[in-house]
Amino acid sequence: MDVLPKCSANYVPLTPLTFLKRAAFSYADRTSLIYEHLRFTWRQTYHRCSRLAAALTNILNVRKNDVVSVLAPNIPAVYEMHFAVPMARAVLNTINTRLDAHTVSTILRHSGTKILFVDCQFVLLARQALALLNHPIRLVIINDETLALSAPIGAGEVEYEHLISETGFADVDDQIMSVDDEWDPIALNYTSGTTSEPKGVVYSHRGAYLSTLSLILGWEMGSEPVYLWTLPMFHCNGWTFTWGIAARGGTNVCMRNPTAEGIYRNIAVHKVTHMCCAPIIFNILLEEENRIPLTSAVNILTGGAPPPAALLQSIESLGFHVTHAYGLTEATGPALLCEWQSKWNGLSSGDRARLKARQGINVLTVADVDVKDPNNMKSVAHDGTTMGEIMLRGSGIMKGYYKDPKATSDAFKGGWFFTGDVGVIHPDGYVEIKDRSKDVIISGGENISSIELEEVLYKHPRVLEAAVVAMPHPRWGESPCAFIAVKKNPNGFRGDEVTEAEIVSFCKKNVPNFMVPKKVEFLDSLPKTSTGKIQKFQLRALAKALVVT
Ligand code: ADP
Repeated sequence: MDVLPKCSANYVPLTPLTFLKRAAFSYADRTSLIYEHLRFTWRQTYHRCSRLAAALTNILNVRKNDVVSVLAPNIPAVYEMHFAVPMARAVLNTINTRLDAHTVSTILRHSGTKILFVDCQFVLLARQALALLNHPIRLVIINDETLALSAPIGAGEVEYEHLISETGFADVDDQIMSVDDEWDPIALNYTSGTTSEPKGVVYSHRGAYLSTLSLILGWEMGSEPVYLWTLPMFHCNGWTFTWGIAARGGTNVCMRNPTAEGIYRNIAVHKVTHMCCAPIIFNILLEEENRIPLTSAVNILTGGAPPPAALLQSIESLGFHVTHAYGLTEATGPALLCEWQSKWNGLSSGDRARLKARQGINVLTVADVDVKDPNNMKSVAHDGTTMGEIMLRGSGIMKGYYKDPKATSDAFKGGWFFTGDVGVIHPDGYVEIKDRSKDVIISGGENISSIELEEVLYKHPRVLEAAVVAMPHPRWGESPCAFIAVKKNPNGFRGDEVTEAEIVSFCKKNVPNFMVPKKVEFLDSLPKTSTGKIQKFQLRALAKALVVT
């Protein structure tokens, strides 16, 4: 075998850029993107991305590994930048639009952003962030002709469509669609900072390519899907479906604001087949009074927070077909999928939802998942009850944190990536998360999983949103405190208010005594991040202020 070279002469570095070229040739006239009344084909998307890549290089002077940031909702420009920026050999940094000016400026400074693309509705936020920096960053403003939204263009700034039309279409050849090295960075994603300061996670072309393929396979996404953009593209590059829809010759349906009314309307008008969202979106879909009934099943990939079994059952009863994924920014989005097994088909809908609420098994490009005791790195028993830390290793995991070797080496030990999540492994190998390490409630020496308690609360017919956090307790050290938002229009609701006593007695029937919340607080809605995660640190602060007698 020694006679063969280590690497084939036919070797081409892996990059999701090849998906666009393939779509432009093989699905040239198929609609690539819909936004209100705007339509593009794959041929047009390819040409627009090529022009933008040329403009980045020739007009904006972007060079290899420069960081180009974007602050915008799910509009066509952000989709195009997912190809154009790496085609210009630069690195795309998608910034969460719900951040404040201080955090945006921290990200711009830390990433060393060279050019900032900003949607016209976020220009004020961008200017406030730029004012906090002591160096200028060139702005490209994205006006929205489709919805007649615009912002004035200042001196030295340029408008997005103008930039694209300025550039002659340089016939983009294999040169620009390939990369020097598949380990080159393609994107930067700052973590949402739920538990700590945001960190810049670097994705490589190789990692992005492989993660895209494994999600397409794991979700069994066939060719020509119609994909509705409800998940922000700024969240882990839309769990890689920015690149994935090109890989499948699909149609992207973009939406500036994902309201329940807009989701149902887009599903009906464009015959949507797929969408991704956090479980919290299920609530707004279920609460919508003017639902347009689905005429065929819509596949949902959900993750980012635990979907309670009761909620899975309700959403599936509307005709949505849910696949559950677990992941984190550091894993290029989903790392585990609750892959469905045919032997479960005959179970009751309650049992099916209970199995589906588990986080699942590793996607194909994550080589391994394990639950280990982090102190001795021994795997826990596969008994569904012994808890340990969920650990991952494989291609989908990030290269590391940008400019932060210490945080990078802390995240990887013994070849494993430490997720910071506490979970169990069931005898069938499926992983179930029990908590983030920081969210476990330790009461009188007993570990209480907040997720387990939330599962129970969601079974109560009046509960819309529930979160359980630790509250200081004079005797037990910590005790569970439940925060609840109740449903506004429950079917058959008689008009009486739900009380703390009722919730406590409901819990007593469903969990051992030590797990029963010592306090139940009702809020209009629970505080959430832009990606639909309940902000438990805010609730912990509220809980601290409550005194247990
Ligand atoms: P941040 O850590 O800043 O919230 P991420 O989006 O990377 O940003 O969040 C990843 C975390 O979200 C995971 O570590 C886990 O705690 C939680 N999470 C993701 N998917 C699921 C899921 N399906 N079930 C339960 N928790 C999940």
